[in-house]
Amino acid sequence: MSGDTEPGHDPGLEWGLCGGCRHAAVKRSARDSRFLRCRAAEEHPALARYPQVPVETCVAFDPDPARSPG
Ligand code: SF4
Repeated sequence: MSGDTEPGHDPGLEWGLCGGCRHAAVKRSARDSRFLRCRAAEEHPALARYPQVPVETCVAFDPDPARSPG
């Protein structure tokens, strides 16, 4: 089990575009800090694996209708 969650399960945090993107996952540290992990970064070297949020523009943004940018 990876421990990843989806941005939509972390209301109140500002993820920007990532909050509505299929490639986003949220990683939780042992101290309960949360980091946005971009799964698309594995195939797009120009993307940061852990982008600084909120992300306002992104060439790989892939909207997920089940999520909304935050
Ligand atoms: S592809 Fe862009 S918008 Fe989507 S999770 Fe990665 S950095 Fe965020």
